[in-house]
Amino acid sequence: MGLIVQKFGGTSVGDVEKIQNVAGRVAEEKQNGNGVVVVVSAMGKTTDKLVEMANELSSSPSKREMDMLLTTGEQVTISLLAIALKEKGLDAVSYTGWQAGISTESVHGNARILNINPNKIKNDLAAGRVVVVAGFQGVTDNGEITTLGRGGSDTTAVALAAALNADKCDIYTDVTGVYTTDPRYVKGARKLLGVSYDEMLELANLGAGVLHPRAVEFAKNFGVTLEVRSSMEKERGTVIEEEIAMEQNLIVRGIAFEDQITRVSIIGLDNSITSLPTIFTTLANNHINVDIIIQSGTGTDKANISFSIKSSDLKETLEVLEKNKETLNYESVESETGLAKVSIVGAGMISNPGVAAKMFEVLAAEGVQVKMVSTSEIKVSTVVSEQLMVKAVEALHDSFELSNVPVQA
Ligand code: ASP
Ligand code: MG
Repeated sequence: MGLIVQKFGGTSVGDVEKIQNVAGRVAEEKQNGNGVVVVVSAMGKTTDKLVEMANELSSSPSKREMDMLLTTGEQVTISLLAIALKEKGLDAVSYTGWQAGISTESVHGNARILNINPNKIKNDLAAGRVVVVAGFQGVTDNGEITTLGRGGSDTTAVALAAALNADKCDIYTDVTGVYTTDPRYVKGARKLLGVSYDEMLELANLGAGVLHPRAVEFAKNFGVTLEVRSSMEKERGTVIEEEIAMEQNLIVRGIAFEDQITRVSIIGLDNSITSLPTIFTTLANNHINVDIIIQSGTGTDKANISFSIKSSDLKETLEVLEKNKETLNYESVESETGLAKVSIVGAGMISNPGVAAKMFEVLAAEGVQVKMVSTSEIKVSTVVSEQLMVKAVEALHDSFELSNVPVQA
């Protein structure tokens, strides 16, 4: 007999009927002879709605009270699911994060899990009970309720799987797996049977929204095998683990993209050793998230620095730069909006030179100008015009043979 952790996201528990469907999926796993721990998110758009209500009352609601508020969403789902499971004749019990023994650091809104005391859950499992745990929440040493950051139920599931030494952690969602690229934009997108932890981390950080990046990091650190699969369809999903079978020896396994990117350039910066730290510390102190950074003009006495940000941060970025013009000591600031980031990801890049070169050639042949570039061992990101984004993704998807991946059902 194995132990499975199943996680169901907001859309999978969006209404009473869907909760009934989830109870069915849980019952099947139980009938297969497995012990089951279920982690659930808040129903549908509940969390968003709770956030909206708080924002109507205050422009900066207390973070402690926000955690108090948002954790109610998951509490609704756990109890309803436990009720549905009992109705099916299964023994089930629901727990909030603190009841499940999930301790976190003392940070409201984005706490990390520090420790899990799994004894209570183990006792229930030994008694044959299905344990339903509220995702996205925990408790501090002082008994304060915390949340793990938006999308954090994935992390709850993976952390429980690690603490209970489960055989597997299945992430049930509204898509059937991880795709080579977003099927809503690219018709030829294919479901992948396997993705490595590192590839998934890059894809998740690049905005492939199926998994919370911190959950993937956790799974990697504790060797938890994940499977992303559909809660409505029975087909096989995508397995995420350390070593995966090379699907047709793909060098690039996925293409991620994101629009609404802006490039900001600071021109005529004093080329002193303190310029870089001063600029980026100032931006960081104002919570502006900078992505790709390019410095040019080294070796002369004036340098230029360009960086990319989310377009929604542009106004604030310009204000911060203007306010600190004296200290930062630059000549002018320029910006370009209407950009997008297109990235190729694949562990095969490590041992295959020329992947970036091929990417640039493909883009050039399509008339797509590359404005910024950044790389990691297994990723190349380019910033291009937003209007050419989908065209660029399609061309790369074909050239790196992702359209040839067999359709999986
Ligand atoms: N309900 C939380 C959110 O919407 C956590 C989650 O769904 O993972 O962000
Ligand atoms: Mg999610």
